[in-house]
Amino acid sequence: MAHDYDLFVIGAGSGGVRAARIAAGYGARVAVAEEYRVGGTCVIRGCVPKKLMVYAARFADDFADAAGFGWNVGATSFDWTRLIAAKDREIDRLEAAYGSTLGKAGVEVIRSRAVVDGPNAVRLADGRRITAGKILIATGGRPNLDAAIPGIEHVITSNEVFHLAEQPHRVIVVGGGYIAVEFAGIFAGLGSRVTQIYRGPEILRGFDNEVRAQVRADMARRGVDFMLNDLITRIDRTDAGLVATTRGGGRIEADQILYAIGRAPATEGLGLETAGVEMLAGGAIKVDAFSRTNVASIFAVGDVTDRVNLTPVAIREGHAFADSEFGGKPVSVDHELIPTAVFSTPEIGTVGLSEEEAKRTLDGVDVYRAGFRPMRNTLAGRDERMLMKLLVDAATDKVIGCHIVGPDAAEMVQLVGVAMKMGATKVDFDATMALHPSAAEELVTMRTPSERWRRG
Ligand code: FAD
Ligand code: NDP
Repeated sequence: MAHDYDLFVIGAGSGGVRAARIAAGYGARVAVAEEYRVGGTCVIRGCVPKKLMVYAARFADDFADAAGFGWNVGATSFDWTRLIAAKDREIDRLEAAYGSTLGKAGVEVIRSRAVVDGPNAVRLADGRRITAGKILIATGGRPNLDAAIPGIEHVITSNEVFHLAEQPHRVIVVGGGYIAVEFAGIFAGLGSRVTQIYRGPEILRGFDNEVRAQVRADMARRGVDFMLNDLITRIDRTDAGLVATTRGGGRIEADQILYAIGRAPATEGLGLETAGVEMLAGGAIKVDAFSRTNVASIFAVGDVTDRVNLTPVAIREGHAFADSEFGGKPVSVDHELIPTAVFSTPEIGTVGLSEEEAKRTLDGVDVYRAGFRPMRNTLAGRDERMLMKLLVDAATDKVIGCHIVGPDAAEMVQLVGVAMKMGATKVDFDATMALHPSAAEELVTMRTPSERWRRG
């Protein structure tokens, strides 16, 4: 029986758009359904608007540092409404560009929610049933909230934070992961008073311990008030604004409370049970290395599979799916050594194992470390140091971890990632000539390990 389409993609985000475009390029008849805005989380309410706001926040440092270089900077002020309007224009432009790319590739964009209605069918919000040879689920994730907390309806998540009518002057950020740390930095840079509440002893669980401690200390110096080992137990709206009560007995007033306590795969109500698609605990779709589910005609890529929840990963998975299923060249995605950044201020760039993971999994680790004041900070009079760490497998001399805290950490780690992916050894790093004066030159001039750790 002929289907309406060869491929029906649910979700026009990072993974879905790439898969749809590449599959159409191979000649497939493709439709993609999007219930919100084309571009998905990253473009509309994630990476892109977030990074624009990070740039905005960091001008505060530029103004402050300029005086040390002879500039007289007049009085400065920040206009939230203008930033949000400019950001919105850019996001509109990008959304249109994504739509037109899909159109040019011959992909039909259906602006509707779609749910699975059997192994080869989807149902749109208007009730229409469409059949397809293959279905790709690329619905991403949604922010979690703790519904058990009285007053939770007063808080915002990353979905709302990009559209606040006014700058909140007192903000509570809940969580200690990527989004919480990034937005604590954004609001602090823009002049808001920020309290970050995290349930554990140190933010950014899973990152290198030294990195975590340094970033928190630097953020605290920049005005973020941390409440660790604590949780909000209730929220009340009062004449003074929102009041959060914490387990530790804290009572904090705020204009906004941003919850960033993780994201859940967007599979609820998606009809996956009608096709018998196997799920993992937590609601993610179970897939193999080729993004295949247990149902032969149904595939899933990106955050909905909860593998590595980053945009470039979703894009790769979408591309690999299209190559495999419509291009006749089976491609699986390599999830090893993925460089990642936290756009906190200061910024974190990281690739490979943390020192703790390296010591847990290897028999010998050489730890190289450089802590220094970047040149710009000298005249600026800024007392903030950069941290660079290289972790080397003592048995093979391979660099197995690189961690950078400080300006441009993300840019540097992207390139270190190439070297590590090629299997670069510490000898290769040492053989590379330094580029002077730069911060990155420290990566090739660390000669003596600060620790030669051996098991036992
Ligand atoms: P998404 O991009 O989430 O796309 C899913 C799409 O499906 C959405 O448009 C949604 O509306 C649509 N949809 C869902 N259900 C349906 C349905 N039933 N019918 C029709 N449409 C549906 N990653 C980075 O690499 N770098 C960053 O700096 C970064 N910053 C981030 C900042 C924030 C605040 C957030 C929330 C995330 C950030 N991420 C970042 C993560 C990144 O956004 C995701 O990993 C990425 O968007 C995942 O792509 P995806 O295709 O799986 O899903
Ligand atoms: P993360 O998983 O990074 O962090 C969630 C945080 O919330 C953790 O600190 C976690 O604590 C805490 N937490 C979890 N449940 C609760 C709870 N019930 N009450 C209080 N705290 C809780 O999620 P995010 O929401 O920050 O971001 C989602 C994902 O999006 C990221 O993991 C990342 O993959 C992606 N992203 C990437 C970015 C980038 O590349 N720069 C930027 C933003 C997002 P604990 O550690 O103790 O579990």
